[in-house]
Amino acid sequence: AQLDTLDIVVLVVLLLGTVAYFTKGTYWAVQKDPYASTLTNGLAKAGKSRNILERMDESGKNCVIFYGSQTGTAEDYASRLAKEGSSRFGLKTMTADLEEYDFDNLDQFPDDKVAFFVLATYGEGEPTDNAVEFYEFIQSADVSFSEKGGVEEKALGGLQYVAFGLGNNTYEHYNSMVRNVSKSLDKLGAKRIGDAGEGDDGAGTMEEDFLAWKEPMWSALASAMSLEEREAVYEPVFEVTEKPDMSPEEDAVYLGEPNKNHLEGTSKGPYNAHNPYIAPIAESKELFNDKTRNCLHMEIDISGSNLSYTTGDHIAVWPTNAGKEVDRFVNVLGLADKRHTVITVKGLDATAKVPFPSPTTYDTVLRYQLEICAPLSRQFVASLAQFAPNESLKAEITKAGGDKDYFQERVASMNYNIAQFLEAMGGGEKWSNIPFSLMVESLNKLQPRYYSISSSSLVQKNKISITAVVESLERPNAPHIVKGVTTNYLLALKQKQHGDPHPDPHGLDYAITGPRNKYDGIHVPVHVRHSNFKLPSDPSRPVIMIGPGTGVAPFRGFVQERAQQAENGENVGKTVLFFGCRKPSEDFMYEDEWKQYKEALGENFELVTAFSREGTQKIYVQHRLKERAEEVNKLLEQKAYFYVCGDAANMAREVSEVLANIISEQRGVPKQKAEEIVKGMRSSNQYQEDVW
Ligand code: FAD
Repeated sequence: AQLDTLDIVVLVVLLLGTVAYFTKGTYWAVQKDPYASTLTNGLAKAGKSRNILERMDESGKNCVIFYGSQTGTAEDYASRLAKEGSSRFGLKTMTADLEEYDFDNLDQFPDDKVAFFVLATYGEGEPTDNAVEFYEFIQSADVSFSEKGGVEEKALGGLQYVAFGLGNNTYEHYNSMVRNVSKSLDKLGAKRIGDAGEGDDGAGTMEEDFLAWKEPMWSALASAMSLEEREAVYEPVFEVTEKPDMSPEEDAVYLGEPNKNHLEGTSKGPYNAHNPYIAPIAESKELFNDKTRNCLHMEIDISGSNLSYTTGDHIAVWPTNAGKEVDRFVNVLGLADKRHTVITVKGLDATAKVPFPSPTTYDTVLRYQLEICAPLSRQFVASLAQFAPNESLKAEITKAGGDKDYFQERVASMNYNIAQFLEAMGGGEKWSNIPFSLMVESLNKLQPRYYSISSSSLVQKNKISITAVVESLERPNAPHIVKGVTTNYLLALKQKQHGDPHPDPHGLDYAITGPRNKYDGIHVPVHVRHSNFKLPSDPSRPVIMIGPGTGVAPFRGFVQERAQQAENGENVGKTVLFFGCRKPSEDFMYEDEWKQYKEALGENFELVTAFSREGTQKIYVQHRLKERAEEVNKLLEQKAYFYVCGDAANMAREVSEVLANIISEQRGVPKQKAEEIVKGMRSSNQYQEDVW
């Protein structure tokens, strides 16, 4: 007789149960998913062990700080904790990328060691790319028991841990990574030290949440591990050595090439978050330029790269810092004369991972490797005091680092980056006492920025479109206009491509042609990140898209795709796009293109516009959505997919609320029930967000 599905399910369950029984107590964890992340693995590649306990023993560590990081902030917090644990408490610390270790021996973790977990939550409550495997592993690990001296003990009974999460309360699954991981660890018997901290980027309090959390945590850890606090001394993690006998022209010197293959001119795929493709920019233009804002449209050519994308994916752009800011940095640190001197940067112990290749030069590190334009943390400011050029500056910096309000007034509200801060505080003094290693340890690695791909892979499989507003932030009291790193770099590339006589509208002076002129001919380093933001596989299903401003980016791709499907003779369902901007005459993106798509899609395509600065009333997409309540509800009942893209802080949350109101009114159900329906739509992917 043939087995039906139920029989197979029953057999599999029985088999798994049997395996679990015989391995009880020793095999506490599930097998790793063999199909999980295939990202290049730094450590495995370097032939180093994925066994964390072995690594700790080899290098004499008693404290590991794991990080799950997407944009570098969690990684930065991990290194700050590592430095502080070492300088204040004499802990032997190391940081560890979750992607680079296995976790099946966490049950052997001895009780004289401690593990920290610094975990960012990404998107819809998801783990960061480097934490996917760890998260799946820990979530599905068995709560099995082992016998120790006749006493039953849970698998992770020996593990003491500390946890901090980085999240954003404007998302529904606020800090779900740290919450879920702590829950799993607790269930497995691990002992948490202090509270599981939660930093909130949505409220803009991440740094202060972190600072407030870590003091009681350190006291709890000190008492749990009998540590004694001592006066903090700067202990470098990296050693920076100048090589005056080497020339920056030598082939072995990195001048901004992201890795060895790029240096040797043998760059090859797979291209990913560790290995960008230096892509030609096929075309670039401005969608609008209303004097205060520029909006770019770019076409990135990926043919021949083996990179591929599907509609709704993200492209990551690897930026370089503005020359103007690199100059400022070398000047204020007294490095101007030797900016092109060759240096090597080495970890002082085996676990310290230098975040960029060396030998290199100061100029290269500042231009291509470190986030030198970002806002400053109070802890970083405090660490600079001991290197101040004189006693009064030392007192001033100590105050700025120690006093929350004073920091806010003198530093944060001024929008300073590190060099602007030192310049402003020092009043002409050079800060040549600051060791360069401190900068390498304290500043984040320069991160690629993501853009929602605004083209359809069905229409242009080898060209990726980007739609981006150039960041330029002015604040009333701040002496500088903050110029976004990546978008101003892209703007300069566009100007150059058009042979503009003023290639650099803001005098930012980018190294457009890249290291050794390798990016000449208008190239930009990129990779693709696949996303779950996808059109329904059945094109006849209706879709509703909410995309004000640059939030329209992926929807240009969606509409382009559906127009193509219609031209191919497929049955394409209702396609409604809510778009918002200031004024039709100012910033109406892709105005002409929508008309073309309308020709292909006919009555099935509808563009609903909301203009916020046209009349006396500010009209936003949320208002238009409300006006269309009946139609929206009808489409949802026909299983329409609902998409939101753009501003996470306000718009996305308001849209979600408006939708719940619509459902409540139109279906005559209580608000709470309607909210549950929206939740259900989210978990079944009928409601998808791509917000930032
Ligand atoms: P950054 O240099 O990163 O600065 C960004 C902001 O940080 C500044 O505007 C300012 O508010 C603040 N800031 C920086 N330095 C300081 C300082 N010293 N003091 C105070 N504040 C400071 N953007 C788009 O335009 N189009 C898209 O399609 C798009 N899609 C995205 C998709 C995803 C999944 C994500 C995560 C983001 C997306 N973004 C998109 C946003 C984009 O990734 C970038 O964040 C944006 O372009 C700004 O990058 P930048 O390097 O120019 O600015």
